[in-house]
Amino acid sequence: MTQRVLIVDDSKNIHALVKARLTGEPVELHSCFASEQAVTMAMQVLPDLVLLDVDMPGIDGFEVCRQLKAQPATMNIPVVFLTGAGSTDEKIRGLELGAVDYVTKPFEPAELRARVRAALRTKYLLDLLNKKAMIDGLTGLWNRTFFDQTLAAQLSLARRSGAPLSIVICDLDHFKSINDRCGHLTGDEALRVVAACMQATCRIEDVVCRFGGEEFGIIVPNTPADRSGIMAERLRANIEKLKLSHRGMPVTITCSFGIADLATCGDKDLVSCADAALYEAKQHGRNRFEIAQTKLTLAKAS
Ligand code: GH3
Ligand code: MG
Ligand code: MG
Repeated sequence: MTQRVLIVDDSKNIHALVKARLTGEPVELHSCFASEQAVTMAMQVLPDLVLLDVDMPGIDGFEVCRQLKAQPATMNIPVVFLTGAGSTDEKIRGLELGAVDYVTKPFEPAELRARVRAALRTKYLLDLLNKKAMIDGLTGLWNRTFFDQTLAAQLSLARRSGAPLSIVICDLDHFKSINDRCGHLTGDEALRVVAACMQATCRIEDVVCRFGGEEFGIIVPNTPADRSGIMAERLRANIEKLKLSHRGMPVTITCSFGIADLATCGDKDLVSCADAALYEAKQHGRNRFEIAQTKLTLAKAS
Protein backbone atom coordinates (compact mmCIF):
# COMPACT_ATOMS: atom_id res chain seq x y z
CA MET A 1 0.00 0.00 0.00
CA THR A 2 1.39 3.38 -1.03
CA GLN A 3 0.89 6.35 1.28
CA ARG A 4 1.24 10.00 0.28
CA VAL A 5 3.79 12.35 1.83
CA LEU A 6 3.71 16.12 1.23
CA ILE A 7 7.01 17.95 1.71
CA VAL A 8 6.68 21.68 2.42
CA ASP A 9 10.02 23.47 2.30
CA ASP A 10 11.31 26.52 0.40
CA SER A 11 14.66 24.83 -0.22
CA LYS A 12 14.99 22.66 -3.32
CA ASN A 13 17.95 20.92 -1.68
CA ILE A 14 15.78 19.65 1.18
CA HIS A 15 13.24 18.24 -1.27
CA ALA A 16 16.04 16.42 -3.11
CA LEU A 17 17.51 15.18 0.17
CA VAL A 18 14.18 13.85 1.50
CA LYS A 19 13.52 12.19 -1.84
CA ALA A 20 16.91 10.48 -1.74
CA ARG A 21 16.46 9.38 1.88
CA LEU A 22 13.02 7.90 1.19
CA THR A 23 14.02 6.03 -1.97
CA GLY A 24 12.62 2.53 -1.84
CA GLU A 25 9.91 3.40 0.72
CA PRO A 26 6.30 2.73 -0.41
CA VAL A 27 5.46 6.44 -0.49
CA GLU A 28 4.30 8.87 -3.15
CA LEU A 29 6.06 12.22 -2.67
CA HIS A 30 4.40 15.57 -3.34
CA SER A 31 6.37 18.81 -3.23
CA CYS A 32 5.31 22.27 -2.10
CA PHE A 33 7.89 25.10 -2.18
CA ALA A 34 5.71 28.06 -1.10
CA SER A 35 4.26 27.96 2.41
CA GLU A 36 1.23 30.03 1.30
CA GLN A 37 0.17 27.15 -0.95
CA ALA A 38 0.75 24.39 1.61
CA VAL A 39 -2.79 24.23 3.03
CA THR A 40 -4.46 24.31 -0.40
CA MET A 41 -2.14 21.58 -1.62
CA ALA A 42 -2.76 19.49 1.49
CA MET A 43 -6.50 19.77 0.84
CA GLN A 44 -6.05 18.61 -2.75
CA VAL A 45 -3.51 15.84 -2.15
CA LEU A 46 -4.88 14.72 1.25
CA PRO A 47 -1.49 13.29 2.21
CA ASP A 48 -0.96 10.74 4.97
CA LEU A 49 1.92 12.83 6.31
CA VAL A 50 3.20 16.39 5.96
CA LEU A 51 6.93 17.04 6.39
CA LEU A 52 6.95 20.73 7.26
CA ASP A 53 9.85 23.15 7.38
CA VAL A 54 9.75 25.68 10.22
CA ASP A 55 11.68 28.58 8.66
CA MET A 56 10.15 29.71 5.41
CA PRO A 57 9.72 33.13 3.82
CA GLY A 58 6.13 34.40 4.09
CA ILE A 59 4.15 32.41 6.64
CA ASP A 60 6.26 30.06 8.73
CA GLY A 61 5.74 26.35 9.36
CA PHE A 62 4.03 26.96 12.71
CA GLU A 63 1.32 29.01 11.02
CA VAL A 64 0.90 26.37 8.28
CA CYS A 65 0.53 23.72 11.01
CA ARG A 66 -2.02 25.85 12.87
CA GLN A 67 -4.06 26.24 9.66
CA LEU A 68 -3.86 22.51 8.86
CA LYS A 69 -5.09 21.66 12.36
CA ALA A 70 -7.95 24.17 12.10
CA GLN A 71 -9.55 22.60 8.98
CA PRO A 72 -11.69 19.46 9.32
CA ALA A 73 -10.32 18.10 6.01
CA THR A 74 -6.69 18.29 7.10
CA MET A 75 -6.76 18.23 10.91
CA ASN A 76 -6.02 14.49 11.15
CA ILE A 77 -3.01 14.52 8.83
CA PRO A 78 0.11 14.01 10.95
CA VAL A 79 2.74 16.76 10.71
CA VAL A 80 6.44 16.15 11.24
CA PHE A 81 8.48 19.35 11.55
CA LEU A 82 11.86 19.77 9.90
CA THR A 83 13.77 21.90 12.40
CA GLY A 84 17.26 23.34 12.65
CA ALA A 85 19.74 21.63 14.97
CA GLY A 86 19.59 22.59 18.61
CA SER A 87 16.37 24.63 18.43
CA THR A 88 14.58 23.10 21.42
CA ASP A 89 12.06 25.94 21.56
CA GLU A 90 11.01 25.25 17.97
CA LYS A 91 10.57 21.55 18.69
CA ILE A 92 8.42 22.22 21.74
CA ARG A 93 6.32 24.83 19.94
CA GLY A 94 5.75 22.47 17.01
CA LEU A 95 4.64 19.61 19.25
CA GLU A 96 2.33 21.94 21.18
CA LEU A 97 0.70 22.99 17.90
CA GLY A 98 -0.23 19.36 17.21
CA ALA A 99 2.76 18.02 15.27
CA VAL A 100 3.45 14.35 16.00
CA ASP A 101 7.23 14.56 15.71
CA TYR A 102 10.20 16.52 14.40
CA VAL A 103 13.35 15.68 12.49
CA THR A 104 16.47 17.77 12.86
CA LYS A 105 18.22 18.98 9.72
CA PRO A 106 20.57 17.71 8.31
CA PHE A 107 18.87 14.35 8.52
CA GLU A 108 20.41 11.06 9.41
CA PRO A 109 19.11 8.87 6.54
CA ALA A 110 18.01 6.05 8.83
CA GLU A 111 16.39 8.41 11.35
CA LEU A 112 14.28 10.24 8.76
CA ARG A 113 13.10 6.92 7.34
CA ALA A 114 12.28 5.55 10.80
CA ARG A 115 10.33 8.66 11.83
CA VAL A 116 8.41 8.77 8.56
CA ARG A 117 7.59 5.08 8.87
CA ALA A 118 6.41 5.51 12.48
CA ALA A 119 4.17 8.48 11.60
CA LEU A 120 2.70 6.66 8.57
CA ARG A 121 2.06 3.49 10.60
CA THR A 122 0.10 5.49 13.19
CA LYS A 123 -1.86 7.23 10.43
CA TYR A 124 -2.74 3.86 8.83
CA LEU A 125 -3.99 2.47 12.16
CA LEU A 126 -6.02 5.62 12.86
CA ASP A 127 -7.64 5.40 9.42
CA LEU A 128 -8.43 1.74 10.05
CA LEU A 129 -9.98 2.57 13.41
CA ASN A 130 -12.08 5.34 11.88
CA LYS A 131 -13.25 3.00 9.14
CA LYS A 132 -14.08 0.24 11.64
CA ALA A 133 -16.19 2.69 13.61
CA MET A 134 -18.35 3.10 10.47
CA ILE A 135 -18.87 -0.60 9.74
CA ASP A 136 -21.65 -2.77 11.11
CA GLY A 137 -20.18 -5.84 12.81
CA LEU A 138 -22.92 -8.33 11.89
CA THR A 139 -23.34 -7.62 8.19
CA GLY A 140 -20.12 -5.83 7.20
CA LEU A 141 -22.20 -3.03 5.67
CA TRP A 142 -21.69 0.67 6.47
CA ASN A 143 -23.50 1.70 9.65
CA ARG A 144 -25.94 4.50 10.45
CA THR A 145 -23.18 6.98 11.29
CA PHE A 146 -21.70 6.49 7.82
CA PHE A 147 -25.19 6.74 6.27
CA ASP A 148 -25.81 10.10 7.97
CA GLN A 149 -22.42 11.51 7.01
CA THR A 150 -22.60 10.31 3.41
CA LEU A 151 -26.17 11.49 2.98
CA ALA A 152 -25.22 15.00 4.17
CA ALA A 153 -22.32 15.09 1.68
CA GLN A 154 -24.43 13.69 -1.19
CA LEU A 155 -27.27 16.12 -0.49
CA SER A 156 -24.90 19.05 -0.66
CA LEU A 157 -23.43 17.72 -3.93
CA ALA A 158 -26.88 17.13 -5.44
CA ARG A 159 -28.05 20.60 -4.40
CA ARG A 160 -25.07 22.20 -6.11
CA SER A 161 -25.14 20.10 -9.28
CA GLY A 162 -28.91 19.85 -9.58
CA ALA A 163 -28.58 16.05 -9.94
CA PRO A 164 -31.38 13.84 -8.59
CA LEU A 165 -30.86 11.84 -5.41
CA SER A 166 -33.04 9.31 -3.67
CA ILE A 167 -32.90 7.03 -0.67
CA VAL A 168 -34.47 3.65 -0.07
CA ILE A 169 -35.27 2.30 3.38
CA CYS A 170 -35.82 -1.43 3.59
CA ASP A 171 -37.30 -3.34 6.52
CA LEU A 172 -37.59 -7.12 6.85
CA ASP A 173 -41.17 -8.31 7.07
CA HIS A 174 -42.34 -10.09 10.22
CA PHE A 175 -38.76 -10.50 11.26
CA LYS A 176 -39.72 -10.95 14.88
CA SER A 177 -41.50 -14.12 13.89
CA ILE A 178 -38.32 -15.49 12.17
CA ASN A 179 -36.46 -14.89 15.44
CA ASP A 180 -39.27 -16.45 17.47
CA ARG A 181 -39.67 -19.54 15.26
CA CYS A 182 -36.04 -20.16 14.26
CA GLY A 183 -33.97 -18.47 16.94
CA HIS A 184 -31.72 -15.42 16.95
CA LEU A 185 -28.83 -17.14 15.18
CA THR A 186 -31.01 -17.85 12.16
CA GLY A 187 -32.35 -14.29 12.46
CA ASP A 188 -28.77 -13.01 12.32
CA GLU A 189 -28.06 -15.22 9.31
CA ALA A 190 -31.15 -13.78 7.58
CA LEU A 191 -29.79 -10.25 8.13
CA ARG A 192 -26.42 -11.31 6.69
CA VAL A 193 -27.85 -12.91 3.55
CA VAL A 194 -30.15 -9.96 2.93
CA ALA A 195 -27.18 -7.58 3.34
CA ALA A 196 -25.09 -9.60 0.88
CA CYS A 197 -27.98 -9.73 -1.58
CA MET A 198 -28.43 -5.96 -1.37
CA GLN A 199 -24.77 -5.33 -2.05
CA ALA A 200 -24.76 -7.74 -4.97
CA THR A 201 -27.93 -6.22 -6.46
CA CYS A 202 -27.11 -2.51 -6.05
CA ARG A 203 -24.64 -0.55 -8.16
CA ILE A 204 -21.17 0.16 -6.87
CA GLU A 205 -22.00 3.86 -6.38
CA ASP A 206 -25.08 3.09 -4.27
CA VAL A 207 -24.28 3.30 -0.56
CA VAL A 208 -25.83 0.33 1.25
CA CYS A 209 -25.96 0.66 5.04
CA ARG A 210 -27.47 -1.17 7.99
CA PHE A 211 -29.74 1.46 9.38
CA GLY A 212 -30.28 -0.37 12.65
CA GLY A 213 -32.06 -3.59 13.78
CA GLU A 214 -33.65 -5.18 10.71
CA GLU A 215 -33.67 -1.95 8.69
CA PHE A 216 -31.34 -1.01 5.88
CA GLY A 217 -30.80 2.33 4.15
CA ILE A 218 -29.52 2.87 0.63
CA ILE A 219 -28.35 6.21 -0.76
CA VAL A 220 -28.88 6.21 -4.51
CA PRO A 221 -27.00 9.07 -6.16
CA ASN A 222 -28.01 10.55 -9.52
CA THR A 223 -31.29 8.70 -9.43
CA PRO A 224 -34.88 9.93 -9.04
CA ALA A 225 -37.39 7.95 -6.98
CA ASP A 226 -39.09 6.14 -9.90
CA ARG A 227 -35.76 4.69 -11.04
CA SER A 228 -34.95 3.69 -7.45
CA GLY A 229 -38.32 1.96 -7.54
CA ILE A 230 -37.01 -0.28 -10.34
CA MET A 231 -34.00 -1.08 -8.15
CA ALA A 232 -36.21 -1.76 -5.12
CA GLU A 233 -38.36 -4.13 -7.17
CA ARG A 234 -35.24 -6.03 -8.29
CA LEU A 235 -34.10 -6.18 -4.66
CA ARG A 236 -37.51 -7.34 -3.49
CA ALA A 237 -37.54 -10.16 -6.05
CA ASN A 238 -33.96 -11.24 -5.25
CA ILE A 239 -34.55 -11.26 -1.49
CA GLU A 240 -37.71 -13.33 -1.91
CA LYS A 241 -35.64 -15.93 -3.78
CA LEU A 242 -33.01 -16.25 -1.02
CA LYS A 243 -32.64 -19.77 0.27
CA LEU A 244 -32.40 -19.96 4.05
CA SER A 245 -33.39 -22.98 6.07
CA HIS A 246 -33.95 -23.90 9.70
CA ARG A 247 -33.88 -27.58 10.71
CA GLY A 248 -34.37 -28.57 7.09
CA MET A 249 -37.39 -26.32 6.65
CA PRO A 250 -37.18 -23.37 4.23
CA VAL A 251 -37.36 -19.91 5.80
CA THR A 252 -38.88 -17.29 3.53
CA ILE A 253 -37.61 -13.75 3.83
CA THR A 254 -39.39 -10.75 2.38
CA CYS A 255 -38.81 -7.02 2.72
CA SER A 256 -40.79 -3.82 2.35
CA PHE A 257 -39.29 -0.65 0.91
CA GLY A 258 -39.93 3.08 1.32
CA ILE A 259 -38.43 5.47 -1.24
CA ALA A 260 -38.06 9.24 -1.19
CA ASP A 261 -36.26 11.66 -3.46
CA LEU A 262 -34.79 15.07 -2.99
CA ALA A 263 -36.98 16.78 -5.61
CA THR A 264 -40.21 15.70 -3.89
CA CYS A 265 -39.29 15.66 -0.22
CA GLY A 266 -36.47 18.18 0.22
CA ASP A 267 -33.29 17.45 2.13
CA LYS A 268 -34.63 17.90 5.66
CA ASP A 269 -37.50 15.44 5.30
CA LEU A 270 -35.89 12.84 3.08
CA VAL A 271 -35.47 10.13 5.72
CA SER A 272 -38.88 10.80 7.36
CA CYS A 273 -40.58 10.67 3.94
CA ALA A 274 -38.90 7.34 3.09
CA ASP A 275 -39.96 6.08 6.52
CA ALA A 276 -43.55 7.16 5.88
CA ALA A 277 -43.49 5.43 2.48
CA LEU A 278 -42.15 2.29 4.17
CA TYR A 279 -45.03 2.46 6.64
CA GLU A 280 -47.44 2.57 3.68
CA ALA A 281 -45.74 -0.44 2.09
CA LYS A 282 -46.32 -2.33 5.34
CA GLN A 283 -49.94 -1.14 5.46
CA HIS A 284 -50.53 -2.24 1.86
CA GLY A 285 -49.53 -5.84 2.55
CA ARG A 286 -45.68 -5.92 2.84
CA ASN A 287 -43.22 -7.43 0.31
CA ARG A 288 -43.58 -4.29 -1.86
CA PHE A 289 -42.28 -0.78 -2.29
CA GLU A 290 -43.93 2.63 -2.03
CA ILE A 291 -42.64 6.00 -3.18
CA ALA A 292 -43.28 9.13 -1.10
CA GLN A 293 -45.33 11.27 -3.50
CA THR A 294 -45.40 14.51 -1.53
CA LYS A 295 -44.37 15.73 1.86
CA LEU A 296 -48.03 15.11 2.77
CA THR A 297 -47.31 11.37 2.81
CA LEU A 298 -45.71 12.12 6.12
CA ALA A 299 -48.83 13.69 7.60
CA LYS A 300 -50.98 10.83 6.31
CA ALA A 301 -48.79 8.15 7.84
CA SER A 302 -48.27 9.70 11.26
P1 GH3 B 1 -42.79 -5.69 10.35
O1 GH3 B 1 -43.10 -6.55 9.18
O2 GH3 B 1 -43.93 -4.82 10.73
O3 GH3 B 1 -41.53 -4.93 10.18
O4 GH3 B 1 -42.60 -6.68 11.58
P2 GH3 B 1 -41.25 -7.10 12.30
O5 GH3 B 1 -41.52 -8.32 13.13
O6 GH3 B 1 -40.16 -7.23 11.30
O7 GH3 B 1 -40.94 -5.83 13.17
P3 GH3 B 1 -40.71 -5.64 14.72
O8 GH3 B 1 -40.22 -4.22 14.83
O9 GH3 B 1 -41.91 -6.04 15.52
O10 GH3 B 1 -39.54 -6.62 15.08
C1 GH3 B 1 -38.22 -6.42 14.68
C2 GH3 B 1 -37.39 -7.50 15.28
O11 GH3 B 1 -36.03 -7.42 14.82
C3 GH3 B 1 -37.31 -7.45 16.79
C4 GH3 B 1 -35.84 -7.56 17.10
O12 GH3 B 1 -35.60 -8.48 18.11
C5 GH3 B 1 -35.23 -8.03 15.81
N1 GH3 B 1 -33.84 -7.63 15.63
C6 GH3 B 1 -33.32 -6.39 15.61
N2 GH3 B 1 -31.99 -6.45 15.44
C7 GH3 B 1 -31.64 -7.76 15.36
C8 GH3 B 1 -30.40 -8.48 15.19
O13 GH3 B 1 -29.32 -7.90 15.07
N3 GH3 B 1 -30.46 -9.84 15.14
C9 GH3 B 1 -31.63 -10.50 15.26
N4 GH3 B 1 -31.60 -11.83 15.20
N5 GH3 B 1 -32.80 -9.86 15.43
C10 GH3 B 1 -32.81 -8.53 15.50
MG1 MG C 1 -39.57 -5.49 10.24
MG1 MG D 1 -38.26 -2.44 11.88
